[in-house]
Amino acid sequence: MAENKILSINNLKKTFGEHEVLSDISLDVTAGEVLTIIGPSGSGKSTLLRCINLLEQPTAGEIIYNDANVLAPGYDITKYRAKVGMVFQSFNLFNNLNVLDNCTVGQQTVLGRSKEEAEKIALENLAKVGMDPYIKAKPRQLSGGQMQRVAIARAVSMDPDILLFDEPTSALDPEMVDDVLDSMKALAHTGLTMILVTHEMGFAKDVSDKVIFMDQGYVAEIGTPEQIFNHPTEARTQEFLKRYL
Ligand code: ADP
Ligand code: MG
Repeated sequence: MAENKILSINNLKKTFGEHEVLSDISLDVTAGEVLTIIGPSGSGKSTLLRCINLLEQPTAGEIIYNDANVLAPGYDITKYRAKVGMVFQSFNLFNNLNVLDNCTVGQQTVLGRSKEEAEKIALENLAKVGMDPYIKAKPRQLSGGQMQRVAIARAVSMDPDILLFDEPTSALDPEMVDDVLDSMKALAHTGLTMILVTHEMGFAKDVSDKVIFMDQGYVAEIGTPEQIFNHPTEARTQEFLKRYL
């Protein structure tokens, strides 16, 4: 493959007890690509993202990052985790810390940056999402959309190679959604590799390089946004997308 593959998932499987949630997932991610995962509730989208950043331990399969299998014994998963960021539906900010400290604490503890350097980087990234006027605010003083933009600035401040988003706008009031999507779109244009789960089909069509339709723990269909949204070949994809017309 001529393209610069940053991540390959090969035959990934995840079971919880008897319940097989991911049956056989294989996919490739090229550096700089925006990959969107769509699919019904319960199809395993969150579990896949959580396996990719090792919040869950996969049951079988490979995660190849820059040509090394992250799941192999002896692999330095601490470094890998620092390179793969995640933005959650529920923001997951530190409620006792103000906006600026939320964006600097990981940089200092995980990356070993000085407070000054971490603050400089945090301020740049907060400005990009329009949250620099709020550096002294505590999360509870912010709207959901503002909290999510802080969470994005925090994740980006860690210099991830890959940023995962799990339904980042699903918990937001409708009027907040566009600000967050705009921040994500701007990020996509910086060349950051992004894997996102979303129900915002218009957004997905607009920003994605590749779209995956997941169903019952399998990749049911994969293609360009044009293929998946305009000419889906699988009946399950067609059925699912009808709900969004
Ligand atoms: P999606 O994000 O597509 O809605 P999830 O990955 O959250 O799907 O969940 C897929 C299935 O895995 C669901 O049936 C869910 O109940 C199950 N599941 C997810 N996490 C756990 C867990 N920690 N323990 C047991 N079952 C889980
Ligand atoms: Mg989910």
